[in-house]
Amino acid sequence: MTAREQTDVLVVGAGPSGSGTAAWLARHGIDVLLTDAAVFPRDKTCGDGLTPRAIGELERLGLGDWLRAHVVSQGLRAHGFGQTILLPWPGGTLPNWGSAVARTELDDHLRTTAIKAGARALDGVRAVDVRREAGRVTTVVFRRGDETVEVDCRRLIVADGVRSPLGKVLGREWHRDTVYGVAGRSYVTSTMSDDPWISSHLELRGDQGEVLSGYGWLFPLGNGEMNLGVGTLATAKRPANLKVRDLMTSYADQQRAPFGLGDELRAPTSALLPMGGAVTGIAGPNWALVGDAAACVNPLNGEGIDYGLEGGRLVAELIADGADLETAWPATLTHHYGESFSIARRLAGLVTVPRVLATLGPAGMRSDWMMTLALRWMGNLVTDEDRDRAARVWRWAGRHSHARDARPPFS
Ligand SMILES: Cc1cc2nc3c(=O)[nH]c(=O)nc-3n(C[C@H](O)[C@H](O)[C@H](O)COP(=O)(O)OP(=O)(O)OC[C@H]3O[C@@H](n4cnc5c(N)ncnc54)[C@H](O)[C@@H]3O)c2cc1C
Repeated sequence: MTAREQTDVLVVGAGPSGSGTAAWLARHGIDVLLTDAAVFPRDKTCGDGLTPRAIGELERLGLGDWLRAHVVSQGLRAHGFGQTILLPWPGGTLPNWGSAVARTELDDHLRTTAIKAGARALDGVRAVDVRREAGRVTTVVFRRGDETVEVDCRRLIVADGVRSPLGKVLGREWHRDTVYGVAGRSYVTSTMSDDPWISSHLELRGDQGEVLSGYGWLFPLGNGEMNLGVGTLATAKRPANLKVRDLMTSYADQQRAPFGLGDELRAPTSALLPMGGAVTGIAGPNWALVGDAAACVNPLNGEGIDYGLEGGRLVAELIADGADLETAWPATLTHHYGESFSIARRLAGLVTVPRVLATLGPAGMRSDWMMTLALRWMGNLVTDEDRDRAARVWRWAGRHSHARDARPPFS
């Protein structure tokens, strides 16, 4: 049996990138169909953390009040190498608060926001193939059980996440010689579930006691639970040879007493994470990849919700302007993230070198000033409008790094 649909813009994937894109397209008055393989609400492996960059984007979508009804964080409590430092969110041109919302709830709400804005939605349909004419995608073929659903479209947005199966069909290639993430998350009850600080442990140790190139996190959800996870950095040359679930268990054991954690880690899952625009083939004449599919993840903290939402807004603007996506989309991503992703992935790559973190970590953690800078840079909490010295240094480093890249982000 084959069912048929048609739409002006077809969005495949209803995570933050896809739902953000669909919401903005609908607000531009464009006919959009938002599809997903899963049936919502659905879970997604994530730390659930929302830094000020993500808050800013959710506020733009009109979700500030909804978010404030959840846990509100004042900043990051950084632990490690015998120190604990409280680092308030820097504010400036970005909001001065953060939050954390379980993705089962956040993504459902974002999808509903797109539908309320006028997007049509279809879930439980898996995109498996495309039909093309002269390089342009004309139809996407979906499977729903035994049924085939074909959707004719004028433009296509691929927001199908890290593995990006439809992106692969279109020729997307992920470069693992550039730094990528290996991360896992779980949920655990905690007596500190209402803590107004998110916590990161920068001294994450493996089973031999060695310092790993990554960090552990405890993000309060305000519902009696915390999101507990670990993330490490790797490259094809220096793969992360570790068992993520075992690492989460030992991290939980270490933090049980100080954070009042329960015994059981609920719903542990893990995933690989392309970062820093380390993919090629992100656009064609009438299609574009957004979010994780385009490796729009910050290499220094593993954040991607904000970049997915921002990307959705930016690609919707290009479509509303009738831009040629093949040239305009890579140029837009390079303009917004090229330099910051370039320097971030260069630094992240350095951290994968054995003993670098063990050597630099203790010195950094002894200085509030260094850690305040690190929070700002690692979180990419710098906007084009920021004129202070830390922002200028970050942009300068980004420009120089980008100019020296053998394969710059998104190329
Ligand atoms: C362990 C871990 C912790 C993280 N922690 C954080 C954090 O704290 N904060 C943060 O900002 N980011 C975090 N990230 C990154 C963040 O989860 C992603 O960057 C974000 O989910 C990207 O959103 P997206 O919409 O691009 O992709 P997704 O959220 O992955 O959405 C993709 C959607 O596409 C659908 N799909 C896939 N294939 C198909 C198909 N063939 N047909 C139809 N639909 C399909 C999927 O069902 C899914 O709903 C973390 C990632 C990991 C792995």
